[in-house]
Amino acid sequence: MSKNTLLADSNFLEKQVEPLFKATLSGGLANIFCACLIFIFLYGSSQESNALILSITITLLSVIRIYVSRHYLKYNTYKLEKYIHSHVFITFLIGVTWAAYAYIQLYYDDESLRNLVFLVNFGLIAASIATLSTWMYAYLAYMIPQSLAIFYVFVKLDNEYSLQMAGAFVIFTGIMVVTSIRYNNRIKKEVELIHDLNSEIGMREEAQLQLEHSKQDLENKVNERTKELVDMNLHLENVIDKKELAEKSLHYLAYHDELTGLPNKNLLVDRINQSIKTSSRDNQKMAILFLDLDRFKNINDSLGHTIGDILIKKVSTRLHKILRSRDTLSRNGGDEFVVVLERLKNTDEAIHVAMKVINSLTETFEIQAHKIHIGASVGISIYPTDGMTSSILIRNADTAMYKAKQSGGNQLQFYDESMSNQLRDRLVLENELHSALKKDEFYLLYQPQINCLTGETTGFETLLRWTNTTYGEIGPSRFVPLLEETGLIYSAGEWVVTQVINFIKTHPINNVTYSINLSVLQFNSYKFIDFVRNEIDKAGIDPSQIEFEITESLLINDFEKTKVFLGELHSIGCSIALDDFGTGYTSMSYLARLPIDVIKIDKSLVRNINKHNNLKSIVKAIVTMSESLGMKNIFEGVETKEELSVIKSMKGNIIQGYLFSKPLMADEIDHWLSLSQDVNQAKILKF
Ligand code: C2E
Ligand code: CA
Ligand code: CA
Repeated sequence: MSKNTLLADSNFLEKQVEPLFKATLSGGLANIFCACLIFIFLYGSSQESNALILSITITLLSVIRIYVSRHYLKYNTYKLEKYIHSHVFITFLIGVTWAAYAYIQLYYDDESLRNLVFLVNFGLIAASIATLSTWMYAYLAYMIPQSLAIFYVFVKLDNEYSLQMAGAFVIFTGIMVVTSIRYNNRIKKEVELIHDLNSEIGMREEAQLQLEHSKQDLENKVNERTKELVDMNLHLENVIDKKELAEKSLHYLAYHDELTGLPNKNLLVDRINQSIKTSSRDNQKMAILFLDLDRFKNINDSLGHTIGDILIKKVSTRLHKILRSRDTLSRNGGDEFVVVLERLKNTDEAIHVAMKVINSLTETFEIQAHKIHIGASVGISIYPTDGMTSSILIRNADTAMYKAKQSGGNQLQFYDESMSNQLRDRLVLENELHSALKKDEFYLLYQPQINCLTGETTGFETLLRWTNTTYGEIGPSRFVPLLEETGLIYSAGEWVVTQVINFIKTHPINNVTYSINLSVLQFNSYKFIDFVRNEIDKAGIDPSQIEFEITESLLINDFEKTKVFLGELHSIGCSIALDDFGTGYTSMSYLARLPIDVIKIDKSLVRNINKHNNLKSIVKAIVTMSESLGMKNIFEGVETKEELSVIKSMKGNIIQGYLFSKPLMADEIDHWLSLSQDVNQAKILKF
């Protein structure tokens, strides 16, 4: 920065003159002090009155100058130049007054006094370098009048030293001026430096400020942009959501029936393909039921499409209720539905479901005060026998359904003729079963149970038989499931109980139990317990002669309920045997917690017990366990001497099997009891 511009810079000027104004107080006080001092020196001299005026003038001027400086420092109300000019002017007046003091030295002869005054003058000139030379004009205004006056007095005095004194004074003045200029320059440089630093700092601050501004700007812009992006993103997400929703609903429509919400043919094919995979992997059967409503067209034509649609929805709700959750129900359009049954145990299961479907749809539908009767024709195809692909399986089930329709509707047909025949037989048998009780076609056989030590007969298992007039002898493994499916098991079960009680009453034999097989279904009915209690009371027989056989599956179904049910049977006085033990999964802890009196070891365990050592140890463990739980054990299906000898070595309790006797007719029992014991004991002793 150049000097000119520096000077023009008022800020720089301020900084430069600031020390001048600040030093005014000390400078002023010094002047006042010296003025008083000199007045005291001159007191009593010829110049006493002049000295008084001059000292007062100096004092007043000093005070005024102090006031001006204070005013500037404190209020700064006028232009800086005004303050400087006033300061310089007053300083000049003080300088002139001091010059007058020097001048009056000409008028008395006391040399030592004069020298004293000059000394004070020199001192002031020298000292004021510090207070005034920051502003050269002020210093010059102060020292020039004094110097001139002193120089003049030295010259005028004209004594022997005066010239040397004048010379020395000129040198002194020169030194003072040079010192003052140097001092002034140094001050200016310092101010310049400070100014430079300040302006540097100022510039930096400004740059910093600008930087912050632009940073803020940038941040604002970034925020704006971010907001725009967020908005844009939201918009995009919205668009994507809508697209996904549209895709989802398109996908849903592609795979579902709009009216019922059921899977449509596309999804059905998918599901069938999937279950073909799992069925072939797990070596299981699968059934496709093709279902078409009977008389639906009539209803649609006569009552209108709206009612037709409601009917379809109601049909789908009913079907949903019947089916298991893993079965697939789909609507093919119109009045056609397809059901996929996975993991079939046997084809009977498919028949069972199809029958339930037909039965449920035969029940009346009520829609808007209309009572509507429909029926359903069902065609069944079975994987893998009737086809290996979804399209063939559906087509064949459709063909079978067509046959069912042609045969008059409201029935089911298998695609495979032989199965349809089987089905027909089954239906015929079922029909026959309904009248079997009335026609007195059932009878009981009694299979003896023999004590393994003594050969005594301890009891008989009662086994149900059916001889049909047209179909002849039919085994329980065929008709018992049919009894269960048709619900006839309840009346048949009661018939067995009555039969046994009557036999006991008419053939009183001591120490012999009669065991009765119970179906799982009978466990749901407490009516059965009341029936048993009543019958026993009525006949007046010993209830301990009756034993009930239950299977393991019961225990697993509902433990608590089973426990209560068995407790009830116990409370009548009957005993309980666990049938087919070893084929299921009954845990020992279950056994211990239930009121069971007898364990019947299944024939599959007995078979070959003499040949397989590990089988032997399992059975041995069962025997030991039954003993420790206080239960009797009965070995079922014992056919050979070898089996008997192993059972004997294990200390088995009771034996039931063809080795001793096949199931007997009721009228053979007396004969059996009178002859058997010795023969049996001999057999037992022999092996
Ligand atoms: P279950 O309770 O296991 O009956 C034992 C079956 O083993 C009987 O077959 C019996 O004849 C047969 N059996 C006895 N000793 C031998 C033998 O040494 N070798 C062979 N191979 N078999 C033997 P059945 O009479 O055909 O009965 C079959 C199943 O029918 C019975 O199995 C039982 O679960 C059921 N059942 C029979 N009568 C009734 C009944 O009145 N009510 C109920 N709910 N089910 C019954
Ligand atoms: Ca049994
Ligand atoms: Ca059994």
